Amino acid sequence: MSVPWAEHYARLPWATPMGPYDLEVRLAVARGSCASAAAIFRDRYGGAENVQSLSLLGDEGQRSHWRGVMHLSTRRFAYRFRVEDEAGNACWFGADGLAATRGETSWFQYPYVGDGDLHAIPAWAVGAVFYQIFPDRFCNGDPSTDLPGTLPWGAPPTGSSFFGGDLEGIRSQLPYLADLGVQALYLTPIFQANTNHRYDTTDYYRIDPPLGTEENLRQLIDGAHNLGLRVVLDGVFNHCGAGFAPFRDAVAQGRSSPYWEWFRVHGERISLDPPNYETFANRNASMPKLLTHRVGVRRYILDVATYWTRFGIDGWRLDVANEVDHVFWRTFRETVRSVNPDALIIGEVWHDPTAFLDGSEFDTVMAYRWRRAILGFVSGRKNASAFAEEITRIRTVTPPTVEHVMMNILGSHDTERVRTHFGGDAERAMCAAGLQLTLPGMPSIYYGDEIGMEGGPEHPDARRCMEWDVTHQQVAMRERYRALIALRKQYAALSCGDMESVASGHPLVYAFRRTHPEGDILVAANLGEHPWRPREDGPIRRLDEDGDVLPPRSVGLWKVDSLVGSTTDMQR
Ligand code: CA
Repeated sequence: MSVPWAEHYARLPWATPMGPYDLEVRLAVARGSCASAAAIFRDRYGGAENVQSLSLLGDEGQRSHWRGVMHLSTRRFAYRFRVEDEAGNACWFGADGLAATRGETSWFQYPYVGDGDLHAIPAWAVGAVFYQIFPDRFCNGDPSTDLPGTLPWGAPPTGSSFFGGDLEGIRSQLPYLADLGVQALYLTPIFQANTNHRYDTTDYYRIDPPLGTEENLRQLIDGAHNLGLRVVLDGVFNHCGAGFAPFRDAVAQGRSSPYWEWFRVHGERISLDPPNYETFANRNASMPKLLTHRVGVRRYILDVATYWTRFGIDGWRLDVANEVDHVFWRTFRETVRSVNPDALIIGEVWHDPTAFLDGSEFDTVMAYRWRRAILGFVSGRKNASAFAEEITRIRTVTPPTVEHVMMNILGSHDTERVRTHFGGDAERAMCAAGLQLTLPGMPSIYYGDEIGMEGGPEHPDARRCMEWDVTHQQVAMRERYRALIALRKQYAALSCGDMESVASGHPLVYAFRRTHPEGDILVAANLGEHPWRPREDGPIRRLDEDGDVLPPRSVGLWKVDSLVGSTTDMQR
């Protein structure tokens, strides 16, 4: 047998409906064992056979990944694969495995592409640039509501310090954000709570008073919408705060409380210290877990989601989303989308997110694995071919439907800042940002990263006050961010084009091409010690700077007017 093994399953993300008549299939084979591959398909009740050749998505580990999109007007797919080695020896792969002849294989079946199963992603989100704000630390627009003991802006944060940032402050900086070019804001929690991070909600219907009022949120949303920016709020529904009225009632009344069953209590009464009830993380008494399979809890959260979606927000980022029942999230999506069909739903899932991304739950997740890959390469811990493999690995476990909305982060309120990760090296931080703003997905900038703010290794230090009094170096970095965001919006290849790794000829230069019918863009990140230039075997021109030479520790973009360089995977 020319191909020792192959792998495919007729389900996500190996088989993904891309439209009513389009099914993307992916095939993994032993690395390098296959020179060409094709899907042979027909209606599963019979009829003419069609051929769709597959293209190489990339290599990683022991595997080569191929993919292609089959088109069938009846939507009822039966298919098998034909693969060929370099010598032209062919074999077949079907539901029963590999075989030498087609007669020995059976069909994979994808019975029907139902319209209701298509993943409807809001068009505004595709490739959009997000900006994440920690409201207490971005801008203090109204000192009159500051809590007693509010620290002076810029003092070192502690776990319990408040700095007076508020919704009016964010509204007042909308021109700054629009000028930077970001297209959507993600605010960490704004509802009433007892902490500066506000992940311990005590009233889901009330803006936390130090942040402002509903009227302030109204003005922020209206102001953002007028500038073309979307606003996504943080929904903390896995748990509440210990001050949440239903929890307090359960504490006071025990089993006779109508809210008793909203929580999982081990005993006849609730004990707070130590907690005898299920909580967020390990015995975090201030964050009791909400049982989303209980009717009362479901109805309450769905009402909250309806209220704020109707208020005019553009979506939800869902905290600790991976610890909440899938069946609840399906209802949540249906509820939110029935109010606003354009609402974006983002889950916080740090591990393999595929189970949440079939189109019935979330549109995307915060891409922590992607972050680790970027940091590994830009720090020098991994070379370009290892990085290319990691990008391929991430792409192969991600449904193709969500590739252009994956929330690509370099850091968040839960991690150290990107520049701090590189020991304060601003050039490396800018390389990471260059990759973030040119790879497929929704780049999400953690407030202040655009001026190279530092902080970490984690909270509270990663949640410092935004620096508004900036140095020349910070202005230069922000201008670079602004230029890259502008290019991303100008060229469809960068915002929604396909991508492929390109051979760079250097182990510490990662190059890739974003492809689009309107024109391709070549991007390279040079983490080596020497200047690099792309191969000049086609018309090509640098987009972001003058001169074709890419200095060490920088990212460059070239407009490609025809084929340039090798499209074969670099590690071959
Ligand atoms: Ca304030």
